[in-house]
Amino acid sequence: MNRNFTALCAALLMCAILIVFYGSMLVAKNNVVLADDRAGKVIYLTFDDGPSDRVTPKILDVLKKENVKATFFIVGKSAETRKRILKREFDEGHTIGVHSYSHRYKDIYASPASLVEDIEKCNKIIKEVTGSYSTLYRFPGGSFGLPDKLINAVTQRGMRYVDWNASTRDAELYGATSAQLFKAAIETPIVADYVVLLAHDTTDKLSTVDALTDIIKYYKSHDYAFATF
Ligand SMILES: [Zn+2]
Repeated sequence: MNRNFTALCAALLMCAILIVFYGSMLVAKNNVVLADDRAGKVIYLTFDDGPSDRVTPKILDVLKKENVKATFFIVGKSAETRKRILKREFDEGHTIGVHSYSHRYKDIYASPASLVEDIEKCNKIIKEVTGSYSTLYRFPGGSFGLPDKLINAVTQRGMRYVDWNASTRDAELYGATSAQLFKAAIETPIVADYVVLLAHDTTDKLSTVDALTDIIKYYKSHDYAFATF
């Protein structure tokens, strides 16, 4: 067999291996395949602690106007009296994840059993409204520094948890203006081309609503695709 032909076969085989490997890397990254621009920049907008009567509908209005989807990590205690808002999140194509039922750290982090109980109580409401349980979870306060037994309690139930690597800082900056939140949203990403942005849709987060259009326009103008978990 001629040597050029052998070299060509070897090169083609190497290309095939690289394509398969790269493809599996893309899927492995959060187990989602990005809709539009697989190799490009991506941002996940995430909203925690809602729904609220005053802020969540306004967030949904902005998302609809800008035609982007987001992920809502909900608090069951708030959602059980606001099922219509939760239903709207679902109907408008956003992803709903479990955040907590009570959001009381002392109770939910007391043991793996109490953590699981809290998750299930929240997920029951999600099932009632959307027809299925969510397999997506965000630890209140993030998973950072939590003991393995609590992390394992979540993953062993087949749930996937998501932290964040960028923040509007709307939970820390008391009385922040929308300009401050916008600045934080574009300056805090730890990974430039893979942004998971933390924001909140509780009743006091009107500045988050005011900042949201500018945040979305900024990332659109910098060629980010918007994705959900
Ligand atoms: Zn929270």
